[in-house]
Amino acid sequence: MSAPLITIERARDLVVAHTHPLGHERVGIQEALNRVLAEDVRAVGDVPPFACSAMDGFAIKDGPPGRTLQVIGESRAGTPSDQTLHDGEAIRISTGAAVPEGATAVIRQEDTDTDTDGRTVTVNEAVVAGENVRNAGEDMQAGTKVLPAGVVLHAAELGAAVAAGLGELSVSRRPTVQVLSTGDELRAPGEPLGPGEIHNSNAPMLVALCSGCGATPLPPQRLRDDRAATERALGQALEQADATILSGGVSVGPHDHVKPALAALGVTEVFWGVSLQPGKPTWFGTAGDKLVFGLPGNPVSAFVTFSLFARPALFALQSATEPHLLDSEAVLASAVRRNPSREMAIRVRLERLDGRTVALPNGPQASHIVTSLLGADALALIPAGDGDAPAGTRVRLQPLAR
Ligand code: AMP
Ligand code: MG
Repeated sequence: MSAPLITIERARDLVVAHTHPLGHERVGIQEALNRVLAEDVRAVGDVPPFACSAMDGFAIKDGPPGRTLQVIGESRAGTPSDQTLHDGEAIRISTGAAVPEGATAVIRQEDTDTDTDGRTVTVNEAVVAGENVRNAGEDMQAGTKVLPAGVVLHAAELGAAVAAGLGELSVSRRPTVQVLSTGDELRAPGEPLGPGEIHNSNAPMLVALCSGCGATPLPPQRLRDDRAATERALGQALEQADATILSGGVSVGPHDHVKPALAALGVTEVFWGVSLQPGKPTWFGTAGDKLVFGLPGNPVSAFVTFSLFARPALFALQSATEPHLLDSEAVLASAVRRNPSREMAIRVRLERLDGRTVALPNGPQASHIVTSLLGADALALIPAGDGDAPAGTRVRLQPLAR
């Protein structure tokens, strides 16, 4: 790592600058869940489409209490009355049913008395025009923009799109991602460990993190620390995936084969080495529109660098506006020993205290302490410096991918 380390911000800018959005496709509403909207959604018609009742009761003309009215019919949800209401008349109405021609208000059933055979109703309360009536277009007017391109479609957005009259949505294509874990020491989840072996915890984490960003992960692969095998797997990944995410093997040890294999395959290095703890040996490069991330092997470093660099790229591939944190700043709850030369990204829990957001360091912060990720809400960035950042220091927050 002879070139000077670049800042987190510069590294993110470089990643996003090298990322080109994938195309879009039309999908049914339910398939659009968690996808990124590619075109604005505008209401096809007014919502509600017609003036309707907000209550179960009687459609009437507005006026004083004490009137006894003739019940001439009924308007039900889905079955409007075709009658026109005149003075001295009422039409029984259900919630969501169309307000009949001639009616100006709805009186709640609780504010009326009906005779035993239901042919007359006595109005016990004064009723003003428009009372208990939902006007056409109160929620959305025909043509208005309901959802902007770039939003992630969750439950509320799907409901709003259907209410707006759509049956399909144009969404960004999901990026396919190949996760490759390097290391002779790695064993599959649940397998018994031999001497010097550890479980491959990065693979399921990185696959899950990719899914959480709307990407489609290909089945993950484990690579031995072998030059030929590394080059073969990388070559295949470059063909099949929009992005390749490697963990481990990007350092300069005699068994780190990733960098020479990438060079041989014509992947151009954009940066190697970020002024960051944990996550200094992070590599990023491109081959045409294909992105390659070489993340450090330590699980916490892999998680943090995914959050800071790969996550923004996966969102950018989908033209998504990255979801923001509610608070982008917090104050440290306790002192943190700074790194003299690199910015730190510590895992914190967030709490509200006396009107401020307080960041509590989430236990020991070394890059192999996977438990520091459990229950963490965000990353807090601590600038390089000597000695401690004291309790009360204002820190910037970054989202921790999930
Ligand atoms: P490396 O970057 O290959 O030198 O790996 C750095 C550290 O991360 C070593 O202690 C590795 O054993 C560990 N490591 C590498 N890959 C994984 C993985 N997939 N799961 C868990 N730990 C890993
Ligand atoms: Mg290794």
